[in-house]
Amino acid sequence: MTKLRPTCRWCKGHNVLADAYAQWDEDRGDWTLSSTFDNYECVDCEGETSVEWVSEEDYAKIIEELTALDPALGLLIARDRKLGVSDEEIVERIREAVDDETRRRASLDKERTTHV
Ligand SMILES: [Zn+2]
Repeated sequence: MTKLRPTCRWCKGHNVLADAYAQWDEDRGDWTLSSTFDNYECVDCEGETSVEWVSEEDYAKIIEELTALDPALGLLIARDRKLGVSDEEIVERIREAVDDETRRRASLDKERTTHV
């Protein structure tokens, strides 16, 4: 069975809370989860988020696509896998690297426009 995990759309983490109702359970003498709603809060981003449902297979597919795009990246991925790094962790690392690069370029662009 494919296990899907809720993934924060912003940070791609799984530390996500869902709004829910709890119902009093007379037998257990405790609250029990009654229903959940499509409103999510990310513990890591400390804010509202929406989630994507991602499976382990999805990570493997993402890695395959990335490897096809960039053979150099493929070598790094192969090395990480040999070291026992999970596919999920590899994808997270790549996303972080891409985010850093995007931020770096954005700040460079800003510098350029302010100096013109
Ligand atoms: Zn988040």
